[in-house]
Amino acid sequence: MNWIDLRSDTVTRPSAIMRKAMAEAEVGDDVYGEDPTVNRLERKAAELFGKEAALFLPTGTMGNTIAIKLHTEHGQEVICESRAHILNYELSMMAWFAGCVARPIVADRGLLSWSQIEAEIRPLGPHSAPTGLIEIENSHNMAGGSVYPLQTIQEIAAVTHSRGLKIHMDGARIFNAAASLGCTVRDIAAPVDSVMFCLSKGLGAPVGSMLVGTRQDMDRGRLLRKRLGGGMRQAGILAAAGLIALEQMPARLGEDHAHARQLATALAECQGVVVEGHVETNIVIADFSKSRISAAQFSKAMQEKGILLNTISPTKARLVTHLDVSAESIQVAVTAIRQLLF
Ligand SMILES: *Cc1c(COP(=O)(O)O)cnc(C)c1O
Repeated sequence: MNWIDLRSDTVTRPSAIMRKAMAEAEVGDDVYGEDPTVNRLERKAAELFGKEAALFLPTGTMGNTIAIKLHTEHGQEVICESRAHILNYELSMMAWFAGCVARPIVADRGLLSWSQIEAEIRPLGPHSAPTGLIEIENSHNMAGGSVYPLQTIQEIAAVTHSRGLKIHMDGARIFNAAASLGCTVRDIAAPVDSVMFCLSKGLGAPVGSMLVGTRQDMDRGRLLRKRLGGGMRQAGILAAAGLIALEQMPARLGEDHAHARQLATALAECQGVVVEGHVETNIVIADFSKSRISAAQFSKAMQEKGILLNTISPTKARLVTHLDVSAESIQVAVTAIRQLLF
C-alpha cells in the first residue's frame, strides 16, 4: 500500500540527488578529523548559523545531551517548557549523562517568556539546586510547531546572560521556524549559546543532526560525542546527504507549511475538533475531547483510508507534513477528514 504518512517528518527518504552524492562522497576517518565531507558540512553549518564551529552527530538526542553537559554541572537544574523534547522524549539523558534535573514550566503554545523563566531561576541554597541552563525548543514539536518571535528569544537570552547563565536551543526544526518567520537561521541563532538542529527531518537527509556553538564548546563536544558512542569513521557518506539537505531543502519548507494549514482548516471545520495554536509550521495537533470519536478512533479510521498519523495523548492526534507528502496526498487526507468527521 502507498501510505500517506503524516506520523512525522522523520519518515522522509533521501532524494536521488542525495543518494548519488552519498555514493560519490569523498571520505576519511572523522575520529581523526580527516573526513573532508564531514569537515565541509561542519564549516557550512557554522557559517549558516553564524557560529564559530559545528559538530556532526548521528541524532538530535545526542546533540541536546552534549549541549546540556557542556553548559551545566552535576546537580543543577535545566529550565525548559513542560512539553519539551529534552524532558519527555530523550530517556532522561539530562539526568543520565549530565546529572541534571528538569525544571519544567507550562507555557501557552509552548513558548516561554523571560518573566516565566525568571520566576523559576534558583540560586544554590540549603534546599534548592541551582539553575544551570535555560533551554528553549523552536519550533516546539508537541505544542503544534509553534515558533518563538525573534524578540522573545533576544529578551530571554539577554537576561539569561546577564545572570551568568547559558541558553541552548533545541532547533530540531529551526529551518521550519525560519521559513515561517521569513528570516534566516542565523537571525534565530544569534542570541543563543548553542543550537541543535536535525538534517534528517524536514530537510530530508537519511541520518544526522548538528550542534553549533563556540569553537571551545564544539572541541569539548567532540570528546563528549566520542564518550556517547558517536565517534563515526567514514561519516562523509552521511554528511554528503546533509550538505544537500542544507543547500537545497530549506527553500521548499513553505510548501509543507501550506499543506499543514490545509489539514488544520479541514479539521477545524469538523464538529468538536479543536486545532491547537495557529499552525505556523508543518505540525498540526488536533484535540478530540469534544468530538464524537476519539483521537485513537480517528487515527484508526484514517489508517483504513491509507493515511497514517500519531496520537500523542488519549485526546490528541498529531499530523506532520513533509516533502514525501504531495499536494495530491493532502487533498486525499482532507477528503478523508471531511468524510470521517463532518
Ligand atoms: C526529533 C527531535 C529531536 C531529536 O530526535 P532524534 O530522533 O534523537 O534525532 C530533538 N528535539 C525535537 C523537538 C525533535 O522533534
